[in-house]
Amino acid sequence: MARHRNVRGYNYDDDFDDDDMYGQSVEDDYCISPATAAQFIYSKRDRHSSFTEPLEEEAEEEEYQDEDKSKPSCMTLSAFDQARLYSCLDQMREVLGESVSEQTMTDAVLQCGFDVAKALDFVFKQDSKTNKKPVTQDAASIERPGKGKSREMPSPDIQIVPKIAKLTVSGNKQTMGFAVPSASELNGQGVTVCTRSQAMDDTMDEADNSVASPSASNTSPNLEDLTSTPSQGKSAGKSKQKINIKEELEKRQGGKQLLNLVVIGHVDAGKSTLMGHLLYLLGHVNKRTMHKYEQESKKAGKASFAYAWVLDETGEERQRGVTMDVGMTKFETRTKVITLMDAPGHKDFIPNMITGAAQADVAVLVVDASRGEFEAGFEAGGQTREHALLVRSLGVTQLAVVVNKMDQVNWQEERFREVTSKLGHFLKQAGFKDSDVYYIPTSGLSGENLTKKSDIRDLTSWYQGPCLIDQIDSFKAPQRSIDKPFRLCASDVFKDQGSGFCVTGKIEAGYIQAGDRLLVMPPNETCTVKGITLHDEAVDWAAAGDHVSLTLTGVDIIKINVGCVFCSPSEPIRASTRFRARVLIFNFDVPITQGFPVIIHYQTVSEPATIRRLISVLHKSTGEVVKKKPKCLVKGMNAIIELQTQRPVALELYKDFKELGRFMLRYSGSSIAAGVVTEIKE
Ligand code: GDP
Repeated sequence: MARHRNVRGYNYDDDFDDDDMYGQSVEDDYCISPATAAQFIYSKRDRHSSFTEPLEEEAEEEEYQDEDKSKPSCMTLSAFDQARLYSCLDQMREVLGESVSEQTMTDAVLQCGFDVAKALDFVFKQDSKTNKKPVTQDAASIERPGKGKSREMPSPDIQIVPKIAKLTVSGNKQTMGFAVPSASELNGQGVTVCTRSQAMDDTMDEADNSVASPSASNTSPNLEDLTSTPSQGKSAGKSKQKINIKEELEKRQGGKQLLNLVVIGHVDAGKSTLMGHLLYLLGHVNKRTMHKYEQESKKAGKASFAYAWVLDETGEERQRGVTMDVGMTKFETRTKVITLMDAPGHKDFIPNMITGAAQADVAVLVVDASRGEFEAGFEAGGQTREHALLVRSLGVTQLAVVVNKMDQVNWQEERFREVTSKLGHFLKQAGFKDSDVYYIPTSGLSGENLTKKSDIRDLTSWYQGPCLIDQIDSFKAPQRSIDKPFRLCASDVFKDQGSGFCVTGKIEAGYIQAGDRLLVMPPNETCTVKGITLHDEAVDWAAAGDHVSLTLTGVDIIKINVGCVFCSPSEPIRASTRFRARVLIFNFDVPITQGFPVIIHYQTVSEPATIRRLISVLHKSTGEVVKKKPKCLVKGMNAIIELQTQRPVALELYKDFKELGRFMLRYSGSSIAAGVVTEIKE
């Protein structure tokens, strides 16, 4: 079967340069998300594996021994008394919440002969005696996740890092469009409305609309200022000074470069556990919060998911044990400021994963080293291949492959090599250069090789490479398009507590200052930026690469949807329903004909479309037209097609704005092609 192999042989136009080739075809037997592929069990099995359970017990035991030895030990209790103890602890927890350690409560219950009321009194008295807030049980069980080995812990006082933004791309919001919804549809259109008095909203909207000029792009800033009200971000009321963006960036980052990192991989590979543990070891989650997650996950019968809960925030995610939305968190390495996006692994949430990946500069691909599990993720129906191909197609060139759960295979070099050679072969075909792919053996659960080089002998005997954080630190930060006109694609739209409303998204190009006027495409409306929030802090400006929240006025929120592009009014983006593109057809068994229905995934947009015309088939290496007006396209082909969307989509040519010129086509839950925009028709 014809297959595109010469990945870097494309030479259709200069705009499709070597360095940035998108996803390429894979072996014919590689099946990319076949619709009929074996499904995965939704809720994760409770892995009370031989790995986790003894460790917890061991840790608890050690912790207990550290306590006053004279105290009665629950280890010596009969099964019946243990059951009574747990029941008492549950009742006490209802009253005390997480403010008192389990150890203190256990002691109290035992001292008071399993009488909950007395035990509570006992705790309160102890508390007032020490005149201190009771301290939670320390996280010894976390501190020693692996074979009793001590680990440097972050300061207990460090608070959990606030999520800087949560991409609201959950299932029910995936198809969003640009038709202006009626007010009654507001709640169903991807607009999260926070609680705020309706009367106030109305007044605000009226005020906003009084300055809104739907088509004019140059409403006087002074007029805006007259109607401005203080907002969540820095106020735009004061007169705006032009800044030297390059100097400001240099100052702000203190020499540290920005990097947007997406974590991808098959469901259950251990992505959330790995990144949750990494954040914990970096000191971004305090002991107390971690302890709370431990207790809660234990209660929910999902003890092994404690670290995953750092990133999986919603009840449903925790309940099902799968990541659904793209969770975002910030952390720093020696030379970089990283925005971490934890993408969902389950195939049902691939559209969310695409949104996350579209905003990423680099990726961490997590694979499960366990026998059978790696194969399940890698073979047909697994998400390992599809995710890798998607991120490559969306412009990611650097990849760290984390071979995780190495503890399950006793840190065997042989297994590591087996996994990496299979992956290496595939990744090369997907368009990754060997020199841009790095393999790191880890255990996300025990924290091995995450923030410091492991000293496990079974590993150090054959692996001397960097740990995960060092690898992340050594990724090359991309050149940001700061000199280009402003572009931001909205990933969330919501009302906040203050005036106006907010949109979040990544600035793809240019920069913005509070007080700037922006054009929104579609619906071709102008608005004013009243405030900018970056990493939960109000700032005066932000630039390409930043994930920001903008507080806006001057436009009605019901006209703004996820997927709208905010741009500079003087150099606007075009919104169109018809455009031409060069596409690469993935391994998809159905021939693609004229009129074929697809979903276009473009930045944060998912829009139904049809293939309007098949223009030509191109030669895989030379890019020459080999056939005009083909009847159909089959897997592995490169072609020029014309797409027609139902509603206008704001697009850029790939040659002008790489970030905004790439898209994916999906059909019936499968990714069928990756493409770049070559011509915008109307
Ligand atoms: P995700 O779906 O990729 O985010 O996977 P999770 O982080 O939710 O982890 C899935 C399961 O694998 C959980 O039960 C974890 O405790 C377990 N797990 C994750 N990392 C490791 C590891 O390094 N070793 C072992 N033995 N289990 C792990």
